[in-house]
Amino acid sequence: MGEHDYVIVGAGSAGCVLANRLSADPRTSVCLLEAGGGDKSPLLHVPAGWAATFNNKKFDWAYETEPEPELNNRRIFWPRGKALGGSSSINGMIYIRGVPLDFAAWEQAGAKGWSWEDVLPYFVKAERQQTFDDSLHGSEGPLHVQDVVDKRPIHETFLDAMEEQGVPRNADFNGVDQAGCGYYQFTQKNGRRWSAASAYLNPARGRSNLDIKTNVQTQRIIFEGKKAIGVETERSGRVEVIKARHVIVSCGAIGSPQLLELSGVGDSERLSTLGINVNHHLPDVGEHLQDHLLSKIVYGTRPDLSFNREVTGARLVPAALKWFFMRKGPLTTGSAPVGAFLYTRDGLEAPDIQVHFASGATLYNEEGKIRALAEPAMTAVVNQSRPESRGSIHINSADHRQHPQIKANYLSTELDRRTMVDGMKLLLKVFESKALASSITSRLAPFPELSELDDEALLDHIREDASTVYHPTSTCSIGKVVDENLRVKGLEGLSVVDASVMPYVVSGNTNAATIMLAEKNADYLVANAK
Ligand SMILES: Cc1cc2nc3c(=O)[nH]c(=O)nc-3n(C[C@H](O)[C@H](O)[C@H](O)COP(=O)(O)OP(=O)(O)OC[C@H]3O[C@@H](n4cnc5c(N)ncnc54)[C@H](O)[C@@H]3O)c2cc1C
Repeated sequence: MGEHDYVIVGAGSAGCVLANRLSADPRTSVCLLEAGGGDKSPLLHVPAGWAATFNNKKFDWAYETEPEPELNNRRIFWPRGKALGGSSSINGMIYIRGVPLDFAAWEQAGAKGWSWEDVLPYFVKAERQQTFDDSLHGSEGPLHVQDVVDKRPIHETFLDAMEEQGVPRNADFNGVDQAGCGYYQFTQKNGRRWSAASAYLNPARGRSNLDIKTNVQTQRIIFEGKKAIGVETERSGRVEVIKARHVIVSCGAIGSPQLLELSGVGDSERLSTLGINVNHHLPDVGEHLQDHLLSKIVYGTRPDLSFNREVTGARLVPAALKWFFMRKGPLTTGSAPVGAFLYTRDGLEAPDIQVHFASGATLYNEEGKIRALAEPAMTAVVNQSRPESRGSIHINSADHRQHPQIKANYLSTELDRRTMVDGMKLLLKVFESKALASSITSRLAPFPELSELDDEALLDHIREDASTVYHPTSTCSIGKVVDENLRVKGLEGLSVVDASVMPYVVSGNTNAATIMLAEKNADYLVANAK
């Protein structure tokens, strides 16, 4: 086997960006390895198909956390994409970048060169914006960012209710100010999901210097002393070695610390206990995990207003035909068409609460699959933008097929508990607005039987109901595990490039920031290639 210039492990949001940018020079040979399969299935392209990928082992790693102490010891289901495009092939498609404050905090944590001014050009470079034409947006990048196709009167009613509570409209959450309520934009092109694979991999697939291998799980990185020289992969029991001058780990916030630890990079005591030869003692690997936790409010609604009935039973047929022939209708919908960024208290530099609203309601069935609720209902969820709680992800077996242990440690600080309760209170008020009165029937959650909800009752509800917004980050943080150029500290020829390197989770959905950081690092690698 010849040696590649780069081997990229993981074809997710970050891996696809790197594969494209690094193979743009035909003299650079790149090998991209993905544990999942291709992205041909319509479930990965019809936007509403995302719900059907949950716990579907073909597309989803389907992790779960350890029992969470502050969530009544419940295990929380954590879907993660397993296919070309990674989580961007199954995500809710909401396009949010975060706020300048996030990147100032990154710099303070040691991420030199990652201030808002430094990262903005890479958000712009990635973006092909449909609507906003100003210096904050890009129109020539590969990542299509488009308006909600399936706008409905109930969305407007919800936004009117927000305005009644003093929340101003915001036409662009990625503009000068994140605060306010309005429509999200989706990473879609003409009503179709636009994953990182659609944006970055498809245009590069034909390049002879880019070798894409699917259904290949990398089981460890191979080192010569302190230098990474390749990886060992496994496919249906067959082991193969792929050599490269530079190994890039882009397995995501769960897979990347897992692969480093399996390769002997991590806390030496932890690894020795598992019988793994320690190559490099780096105790922060897998530590500092962050995620956004959501709690939901569900109200019954009139049948004609609910999205649910249009995507269940016989009505699914016309919805599917509408999508197929016109790329319109309910199947164009990502996770939430409208939302808001709110302040729970004065004196904050940026909103500390994010809201997602959808005119439908879902539940997990016994197999952990997400299904539309039988009765007409609408859902609004609250999540804290900048949680303090931190957890960890570590292997507990030397077998690469075993899922690592995830401890999110949600709600482990008073500020996090307080902010979630206050966020729920703000949102409950919105449902009491005149604007929504004729659209809602009864409250289904939290606690339909209680009319007065005090802080304690709300915290109880959160502990019993809350789940993830699917935004794990920070398990291989810049400043701790990698340097500001995303090279693993103390080792050569090895980088980590994905959501795991964010020193803090950004104030919003994490796909755009992951793509940004891969764009920025690709620039660095190209400029510094020997
Ligand atoms: C259900 C869901 C909904 C979400 N909704 C939104 C949203 O609406 N908006 C938003 O901005 N963000 C959303 N996110 C988050 C966002 O998609 C992720 O933050 C982002 O995709 C992370 O990119 P990544 O490159 O770090 O990891 P991933 O995209 O997860 O890529 C990692 C890749 O590595 C592969 N891999 C892992 N281990 C190995 C191995 N050992 N060998 C080979 N391959 C391996 C995986 O199969 C995967 O393809 C959502 C995520 C999920 C799961």
